[in-house]
Amino acid sequence: MQQNHSTNVDQAEIAKFESAATRWWDTESEFKPLHEINPLRTNYVDSIAPLAGKKVLDVGCGGGILSEGMAQRGADVTGIDMGEANLTTAKLHALESGVKVDYRHITVEQLASEQPQSYDVVTCLEMLEHVPDPESIIRACYQLVKPGGHIFFSTINRNPKAYAFAIIGAEYLMKMLTPGTHDYHKFIKPSELTRWCRGAGLQVTDMTGMVYNPLTKIYSLKDHDVSVNYLMATVKPAE
Ligand code: SAH
Repeated sequence: MQQNHSTNVDQAEIAKFESAATRWWDTESEFKPLHEINPLRTNYVDSIAPLAGKKVLDVGCGGGILSEGMAQRGADVTGIDMGEANLTTAKLHALESGVKVDYRHITVEQLASEQPQSYDVVTCLEMLEHVPDPESIIRACYQLVKPGGHIFFSTINRNPKAYAFAIIGAEYLMKMLTPGTHDYHKFIKPSELTRWCRGAGLQVTDMTGMVYNPLTKIYSLKDHDVSVNYLMATVKPAE
């Protein structure tokens, strides 16, 4: 599916996140899971692409949970999102925390035409399952990163276990997420994400699961279990 820039935004999805925008930094809100996985994913990115001194783009940055985490590791971070209210929260929080991040309201496709090959590292976490055309996002991320640079994606797998954990468990049983947060049909299998990344010209270098244990209520990285939430590391080949 080919889309132009402005149509690759699902306004209903943006509205969902904006309606919760005042709660991005409330660690007991629907964003609690993002706060819990944040150290894990920041460490993952930092271990593969050491962040200090790097120019980093965070695509679909929301309230800036990951953007700030990466800036705290010494990266020069730009965060983009199509929800104005999310960016307002992100900017206010950065003022409070004193962490410097540059936030912009722009699509990744538009930024790619403005600033191709500008970033050492691009992150696009928990966002692909909320857009009409994820492949277009991946292609734009490819354009934005410098040759030899790294792009990280994370999303949710599509299978009965992922349905049980990410929708029934998280939204209905544990009430961690607002019902309707996720649409099962937009979940993405690792094989699909791999195919799209390769199609865009990226090399897939690593994949790891972010596994939630409902008994201990603790998340951990497990490289052999990508059955529900997972992270993928890719590289744009050097020219
Ligand atoms: N990446 C952040 C937030 C994930 S929530 C984190 O993991 O902490 C998904 C975010 O993607 C929301 O803030 C939503 O507004 C944003 N989003 C959805 N579609 C988008 C699009 N087409 N362009 C930019 N941002 C988008």
